[in-house]
Amino acid sequence: MAITVVVGAQWGDEGKGKITDILAEDADLVVRYQGGNNAGHTVVIGDEEFKLHLIPSGILHPDCTCIMADGTVVDPEVLAEEIKCLQERGYSCDNLRVSCNAHVIMPYHRLLDGLAEEARGGKSIGTTRRGIGPAYTDKTARMPQPVRFGDLADGQKLRGLIADQLAQKNVIIQQLYQHPPLNPHEVFEEVWASAQLVSKYAADTHKIVQGSAQAGEQIILEGAQGTFLDLDYGTYPFVTSSHPVAGGACLGTGVGPTAIDQVTLVCKAYTTRVGAGILPTEAPDEAAQELRDRGCEYGTTTGRPRRCGWLDGVVLHSAAMINGATSVALTQLDVLDTLAKIPVCIGYEIEGVLLDTVPAWAEELVKVRPVYEELAGWQQPLGEAREWTQLPPAARAYVERVAEIAGVPVGMISVGPSREQTIIVD
Ligand code: GDP
Repeated sequence: MAITVVVGAQWGDEGKGKITDILAEDADLVVRYQGGNNAGHTVVIGDEEFKLHLIPSGILHPDCTCIMADGTVVDPEVLAEEIKCLQERGYSCDNLRVSCNAHVIMPYHRLLDGLAEEARGGKSIGTTRRGIGPAYTDKTARMPQPVRFGDLADGQKLRGLIADQLAQKNVIIQQLYQHPPLNPHEVFEEVWASAQLVSKYAADTHKIVQGSAQAGEQIILEGAQGTFLDLDYGTYPFVTSSHPVAGGACLGTGVGPTAIDQVTLVCKAYTTRVGAGILPTEAPDEAAQELRDRGCEYGTTTGRPRRCGWLDGVVLHSAAMINGATSVALTQLDVLDTLAKIPVCIGYEIEGVLLDTVPAWAEELVKVRPVYEELAGWQQPLGEAREWTQLPPAARAYVERVAEIAGVPVGMISVGPSREQTIIVD
């Protein structure tokens, strides 16, 4: 395995948490490379369900060090709460490290996120209003200096940084949004309470990752969201503020592209998306509701119902190329158990031309008409299957077609939420 990137092929919620948790069994390090608490991973162990928003899924393996790298944005209040919940369930979190360089989501980021969404009215981009976008905006703006995770241990410095930030932010809050200003002292007190709990996890995480890589240890670089929510590759502006693609795994983790051995592309057997933006294979209401109900397609973080549709082979094929995928982990195959026929999009038709990759220009993408082929359903439950040969022929044919479309082999098949409901394909 050496260094493996786990990346979502679609619009997030592909089941990366489960796949990372399984791979983490043999891993020494799990590194989350981007995103904030707008992502959510669900891991099921026996009867227990864990919903993780910030902390990498490897945390459930106490021998595995879990890192939140420079490219993540960290809300200390949310982190403190997540650590507390895990500790109450017997996971010490002593194996967690957060990069000193990771930017901190502050109360003013959350406020500005909500104010901006409200001001957009009908043109909202569907953010989770958790301050992630504004925190990334400040990161690239650089001045005044935003708060980073390494600043949380020093109360005096933190106070100064908050005062500098609010001198600017309060002008925007009051004059652009007609909202009362934030009080620097109150903001400090709010953040300081959780800063004292989480600042001990700060570390030079590059050193840890590089040391581990040089020692030949097994490392997983875990992405949040998915390929088509990437700031550049996604359906802009309905994207996230960071780089979920495999290339993003080199930004701030400490390793370069040539150090990466494998890229596991996690792809749901159908398609979902939360919030606004183009979804070419969105199913009609009744079929979408069936997928939603069978797949429990409601957001881990927000509870929002996810839009549902058929597998989009064009998205999958493009994602395999964009990420340099070496294999596919096909998840939620069991959600399709009841269907007699399963449509799969194998191309986009636009003005008489058939495309097999996603057009880069979003204005072209809105014009495409998905072209489907229909595969036979298996109409029996897959949840008990543990080996390739235990899958019915129609399910195997579906998986083989997915591999053909992706252009890379399917290495793992997930037939249910729990760890055991996984088939490793030779
Ligand atoms: P992530 O953000 O990519 O990790 O995905 P989420 O955790 O948001 O969503 C995946 C959901 O599907 C979670 O509730 C998982 O427990 C569940 N899940 C993962 N794999 C499977 C599977 O193969 N079958 C079913 N039915 N559910 C799965």
